[in-house]
Amino acid sequence: MNNRIEIPYAIPEDEKQVIRDNFASHTDWDKSVFDRIKAHIIRHLRQQQENECCYCKRQLGFDIKEVDIEHIIPKSKYERFTFEPKNLALSCPGCNTKKGDRNVLRSKVTNYPRTGSNLTIIHAHYDLYSDHIEILNQVIYIPKTDKGCETIKLCELYRLKTVEDNMKAFLSQQDEIKKIVEQLRSTETKSGTLVRLLAQLRRILKRNPMQ
Ligand SMILES: [Zn+2]
Repeated sequence: MNNRIEIPYAIPEDEKQVIRDNFASHTDWDKSVFDRIKAHIIRHLRQQQENECCYCKRQLGFDIKEVDIEHIIPKSKYERFTFEPKNLALSCPGCNTKKGDRNVLRSKVTNYPRTGSNLTIIHAHYDLYSDHIEILNQVIYIPKTDKGCETIKLCELYRLKTVEDNMKAFLSQQDEIKKIVEQLRSTETKSGTLVRLLAQLRRILKRNPMQ
């Protein structure tokens, strides 16, 4: 697992010029003139983060819809940090949406923080993920610190636990179905037994948790 971004994206001079010429408000972030710069940021950070979401550590997809450039300190609250390389990390759209533009600072700042101490959540450039959260079986998130706890809450990482619970229920149901089908195969055709097994099957299919 990747623990921290060691090298932030270094914005080359020509890209700095594009930002100077086209950036006035945080809503400008979506302008297509920045597409090339964003592609470079994503390429750089994918490598730094071993292609993992900075919050849930799941692998990021390669489609553009499956990866977000996350502003650790929300750009809507701190416009001047919109292109600050240390404020940028890659996340999955799920974590990014859950986190939204909620406040992650303990106290207001003027300059970009140089350490993670003023942040309430794990800072992908400053904090070692494993100091704050332990991931069991790649699905269960155990907080080790307040920061870990806040990160889990903000990104609702327990939502992934729900997925696992559904998956387990689904798999155990598959086992039940398999057993019944085996019994159906091996049973001599006694209509009473058949009716009972088919009723059992119907019951299981009715409580399918994946639907
Ligand atoms: Zn994520």
